[in-house]
Amino acid sequence: MKTKGTRKNIVNIVTLGCSKNQVDSEVLLTQLRGNQINATHEANNDDANIVVINTCGFIDNAKQESIDTIIRYADAKSEGLVEKVYVTGCLSQRYKDDLEKEIPNVDAWFGTRDLSRLLKQLNANYKHELVGERILTNPGHYAYLKISEGCDRPCSFCAIPLMRGHHTSRPIEELVTEAKNLAKNGTKELLLIAQDSTYYGLDLYKKRNLAELLKKLSDVEGIEWIRLHYAFPTGFPLDVLDVMAERPNICKYLDIPLQHGSTDMLQVMKRGTTREKTEALLQTIRTKVPNIALRTTLIAGHPGETQKHFDEMMAFVERARFDRLGVFTYSHEENTHSFSLKDDVPEKTKQKRVEQLMDLQQQISFELNQAKVGKTFKVLVDRKEEGTFIGRTEFDSPEVDNEVVLNTSDYLRLGDFVTAKVTRASEFDLYADVL
Ligand code: SF4
Repeated sequence: MKTKGTRKNIVNIVTLGCSKNQVDSEVLLTQLRGNQINATHEANNDDANIVVINTCGFIDNAKQESIDTIIRYADAKSEGLVEKVYVTGCLSQRYKDDLEKEIPNVDAWFGTRDLSRLLKQLNANYKHELVGERILTNPGHYAYLKISEGCDRPCSFCAIPLMRGHHTSRPIEELVTEAKNLAKNGTKELLLIAQDSTYYGLDLYKKRNLAELLKKLSDVEGIEWIRLHYAFPTGFPLDVLDVMAERPNICKYLDIPLQHGSTDMLQVMKRGTTREKTEALLQTIRTKVPNIALRTTLIAGHPGETQKHFDEMMAFVERARFDRLGVFTYSHEENTHSFSLKDDVPEKTKQKRVEQLMDLQQQISFELNQAKVGKTFKVLVDRKEEGTFIGRTEFDSPEVDNEVVLNTSDYLRLGDFVTAKVTRASEFDLYADVL
């Protein structure tokens, strides 16, 4: 890193955590450049003299990664390698008072809804005319579209409402403008994200309006895939399924975190539903949208989870045969309802239960993938790795789901769609010949 005094102001934004944080960093990057400020994202050179760390405060591991990153840059500042260190995002929102004392070398701390104040600190002004514009930090053929901020759900284990505040939907017009701008710049796939996407509109339009939003986005020229993430099972708006079934550019894909498969635990976790209702909903989804790929997330080791509850969850996963599954160990988070309960499942048992669920899912995923051998799919080319092109089908979200390893002698353009026939499959990947 160059020493002080020899450089122009360059701001380097470092993003930790989820896709929602990534969008916040992209909005910050767009606003800074819109103010003629030289800003980069995760620059791996060390030209920047100002660093903004967009942190995650979700669960233990993520918090530790954020703290380690802050300390690394705070140390770089004391070594004269950077001049200013600013921290924003969920960890800062949640623990600012403690962190200010523990890491005094940070110049200022900002919350999750503090963009204007952060921009001011960086000698920039918030530009309304840039709403709907966004510089992407991932390959431009896909983009996350954050449809709302915050969450009003009472899930007992979750600290997100503490960090992100109440649910606030973004107006449909603003989202359509953003989608049009992204499409104009080459985006073909939109990934709709939120804390709870199915709550969309209840605040702004006094009704669940996700189906309407999907229709409007589906009409945007150039958008070939629209993917729905972070749906919530309780009060799921069934009209969304009708739009998904009728619109070819809405992926037959749904990410719906369910968190547990035992009715007793779902009630302790304040999920407002039962295993029976959940299974009925999954049945309805699969009936209304045939061949839909379902992704879910589960938590193992929540306070009060007995072996019997866990066995119920294993049986639930065996019956449901999800296409994609992620499992977390329960994290005892201050100021959540669950924090008042005894964290009575030993860490070792939590880990073992995660492994058991993932072993079961690996077998299910292998079987589901075998059924794809011999079939032909539309594949979006994401990247080239050691001379091999890698892509995804509409049943796979970037960074978290399966991939397609493409066999071709042609040179493919990243972001192009190709048609490919699956020749073999492993647990989590497909191998296909480009036709
Ligand atoms: S819906 Fe998701 S973000 Fe909201 S409280 Fe529940 S788990 Fe947390």
